[in-house]
Amino acid sequence: MKVSKSKGRREAVNDCKEIQGLIPRYLRGELTLHEARLFTKHLKRCDDCREEIEISYLLDQGIVRVENGETIDLHADLEDMLRETEDSITHLTQFRTAVYLIESTAIFVLIACVLILTLF
Ligand SMILES: [Zn+2]
Repeated sequence: MKVSKSKGRREAVNDCKEIQGLIPRYLRGELTLHEARLFTKHLKRCDDCREEIEISYLLDQGIVRVENGETIDLHADLEDMLRETEDSITHLTQFRTAVYLIESTAIFVLIACVLILTLF
């Protein structure tokens, strides 16, 4: 019981380290689909990492925007950005599924044609 508990905690910490390591690349929009999915999923349930990205976001974007005389709502901006990421993940996933379905259908039709041609 004790062992599994501490193992779980260690995994969570590793997760956080991994996720926080992705933050700079996330802010530059450089994450892969897989990474972005892990990233947004983790941030939804981890306050530590949210705090971490809020700080990074503030340093990365906030200062520039304040210098430009823009007002920023850090929390809302970050929420927007994460929502946009989730939207594009959904779109990309749907697109990939569609491509996959079209490809499988094409292969199926091809096999059917070959079978029909060889059988008749
Ligand atoms: Zn975390």
